Amino acid sequence: MAEQEVDLSKKYDAVIIGSGAAGGMAAHVLTTHGLQVLLLEAGKKLNIEQELRSMEWPYDNAHRGGLPPSSHSINHNEYTIRRPPFGPGFEKSKNLYSYIGSTDYTKNIVVNERENPYTGTNYAWVRARCLGGKTNIWGRLALRLSDYDFKAKDRDGFGENWPISYSDIAPYYDKVDLYLGITGVKENLPYLPDSIFQRPTKLNCAEVTLKQGIQKMGRVLTQYRAGVTSDGLKHNKYRSRCYGRGACERKGGCDIHAAFDSPTGLIYPAMDTGNLTLRTNSTAREITVDPDTGKASGVHFTDSQTMKDYTVRAKVVIVAASTLESARLLLLSKSRLYPNGLANSSGHVGHNFCEHIMGPFVAGQVTDLVGKPPTLDDGRPGGFYLTRFRNLAEKHPNFIRGYGFEGGSGASMFPPGTDNPGFGASFKEEIRRNQGSYIAMGAFGEVLARYENYVDLDPVVKDKWGIPALRFHYKFGDNEHRMAVDMKETAQEMFEAAGLKIIFVSDRVLTEGWSIHELGTARMGNDPKKSVLNQFQQSHDVKNLFVVDGSAFVNASCQNPTWTIMALCWRSCDYLADQLAKNEL
Ligand SMILES: Cc1cc2nc3c(=O)[nH]c(=O)nc-3n(C[C@H](O)[C@H](O)[C@H](O)COP(=O)(O)OP(=O)(O)OC[C@H]3O[C@@H](n4cnc5c(N)ncnc54)[C@H](O)[C@@H]3O)c2cc1C
Ligand code: SF4
Repeated sequence: MAEQEVDLSKKYDAVIIGSGAAGGMAAHVLTTHGLQVLLLEAGKKLNIEQELRSMEWPYDNAHRGGLPPSSHSINHNEYTIRRPPFGPGFEKSKNLYSYIGSTDYTKNIVVNERENPYTGTNYAWVRARCLGGKTNIWGRLALRLSDYDFKAKDRDGFGENWPISYSDIAPYYDKVDLYLGITGVKENLPYLPDSIFQRPTKLNCAEVTLKQGIQKMGRVLTQYRAGVTSDGLKHNKYRSRCYGRGACERKGGCDIHAAFDSPTGLIYPAMDTGNLTLRTNSTAREITVDPDTGKASGVHFTDSQTMKDYTVRAKVVIVAASTLESARLLLLSKSRLYPNGLANSSGHVGHNFCEHIMGPFVAGQVTDLVGKPPTLDDGRPGGFYLTRFRNLAEKHPNFIRGYGFEGGSGASMFPPGTDNPGFGASFKEEIRRNQGSYIAMGAFGEVLARYENYVDLDPVVKDKWGIPALRFHYKFGDNEHRMAVDMKETAQEMFEAAGLKIIFVSDRVLTEGWSIHELGTARMGNDPKKSVLNQFQQSHDVKNLFVVDGSAFVNASCQNPTWTIMALCWRSCDYLADQLAKNEL
């Protein structure tokens, strides 16, 4: 894809900041409406197939797929005992990455922590600064929210309801399903609505054992709902259907783009309309404002490589830099008119920050499967999802909201159990005998959106481009910790009910941030005093400013957010195009 030069003399219809799930979707929808759009992305355009090398065998890689000795990726223990910024203690490592940058396939996708510091409370912040952002390496679990989430306050009194209902967003979920492709099986659950699924993957023997074992408890295990096209997409020449190569088990994306990523799913098709100008290496540092009208006038950005500054003008500014970076940019955009940052008359920018709590985990074995001939279980873009069951019909006495489990089992190219003791021929035989019998799952639970969990700008620390770093004031609360205890207990209880042998069970909570599902820093609502955006992700204060990523979430629910981010963004951009056409912005 040839990138066009940005025409700085031109006033674009819209400028989008960030090219991940949200920015890509905004580019797709607005260019389809015929708008002239500029997309600014802070990171570079990588030769992504060369980075991902999905079919490379470990023995063909200099470091068996790991990092070279000069580089280090921060591990769980280090996140727990050291506070950001991660300088002291890591001097020996030339490059320092978040925990997701622990492989040769992801190291160039995630940021170098030294160039992109942050401060404050412990937080494992994973950022991908390149075209497509985190969608290049996301885990692909694509779930919908329901009115159990949008109207959660009505059920338990906590927080705020969303200003929309499921019926408002359902048509847009459908559009996302059809345009990008999703695999899964219909379950007719009111709290986890079905998508329009393509061909599903199959559960393997151990997973079916667990599914059947928990049915009598009224609990539901379903195929991993993956944002992957299993049948192919006739309208998209950049993506292939999934060949079930099993490669997406490895940390890193899909080099044939069966798994959704923003560049091939959204941005390249948008460029084909002739309406999109893309500029990578463009770090937005401020949204500029017209002092006469109070409206956003454009974006001040720095070339991430040459350090040269530019300003570009647009009729509408769309922030899609990801939840935390978007909040940072709004806070950075201070002016005489907006001394607390842009769109922040409510004081809620950066606040109500929420995500998912992770950690509690169970691993076990279906002993009947030990010694059985290996089956072809490998090659799926995901295992299973065990859906939420807490606080639906009944109220749990210890906590509100819910959690689900992601898990998997089966024979695979890189079999589980290789860390068991032993060596030589007997060790190999032991691995072969056991491999298809192992099964494991880990929980993802809702972290409540609380005003006192927030980010602001660090008064001292700056990034490589001289831009103030983000400072975290964020901790899990009692509700999350009580939920984590229950996660472990129910994980164990379900494995026991299914007759599985439990090998390991844990209630250890992972560091804040581990879920990589950060949300809520510019929430939507009807009351401008308590929210930043309206139901169309349009700023209450500045009507030609939209924030179309996870910032707008009112609560985190326990479902993974990316499909919802894109459905909301599509809805908002349809509204935006309509308003622009009517000269209402
Ligand atoms: C390993 C991993 C597994 C995941 N698994 C799942 C999953 O299974 N299911 C799920 O729903 N979600 C998952 N996620 C989360 C998912 O990737 C995100 O929800 C999604 O990418 C968010 O989209 P976004 O556009 O808001 O942010 P991003 O995808 O992060 O994109 C933001 C873009 O903005 C750019 N940017 C930032 N600041 C600036 C600036 N100042 N100027 C210009 N550009 C800027 C960034 O470089 C980046 O390219 C996972 C993420 C990771 C990393
Ligand atoms: S299993 Fe499918 S989605 Fe995953 S890497 Fe292989 S082709 Fe891509």
